[in-house]
Amino acid sequence: MNFLEERILKDGIVKPNNVLKVDSFLNHQMDISLMEEIGREFHRRFGDKNITKVLTIEASGIGIACFVAREFGVPMVFAKKSHSINIDSEVYTAEVESFTHKNKNNIIVSRKFLNQDDHILIIDDFLANGCALQGLIAISKAAGASVEGIGIVIEKGFQIGGQVIRNLGIQLESLAIIDAMDSDTGSITFREQ
Ligand code: 5GP
Repeated sequence: MNFLEERILKDGIVKPNNVLKVDSFLNHQMDISLMEEIGREFHRRFGDKNITKVLTIEASGIGIACFVAREFGVPMVFAKKSHSINIDSEVYTAEVESFTHKNKNNIIVSRKFLNQDDHILIIDDFLANGCALQGLIAISKAAGASVEGIGIVIEKGFQIGGQVIRNLGIQLESLAIIDAMDSDTGSITFREQ
């Protein structure tokens, strides 16, 4: 069991509707030592790639992506959720359905911060159905940049996103993959990696 799986078992709370709460250490209160370890682990897994930018989506990806970007010594860019439907020529946009909030947002990234010379590492806290990642991939493509890999802290392997993204042929590294979880018993089963 790796450092993250141990922490999920200790402090994660399984909620109904396939939601895992990890807000005591990952996406509300953040354990900074754990963030540093996550940053180092993604660098170990993607360090052979010539990464020029780390890309994530607000809000909960930002903190994690900062620690990853520091390991690579590159900028971190985050896609903003925009409530405006105006397509501004200054931005790349994609539509993303939120797993947790069940609403749709346009996400935007300024054209100033991504271009065809960029080699992107996408980072996010969770992978569920893959909508957030598909939006970030679409924005990278619109910029003409290459997606070198995707790093996810917690993949819920019983939802479709992991398979969808792996079928695209992009290197996807998830630090913990949950194959099953039960809100009645609180049990969590990890995939052997
Ligand atoms: P997807 O787009 O893959 O369906 O969902 C990924 C996004 O939804 C992540 O950015 C994350 O913020 C949120 N998310 C998905 N599942 C969970 C979950 O079980 N717990 C929490 N806290 N966030 C989740």
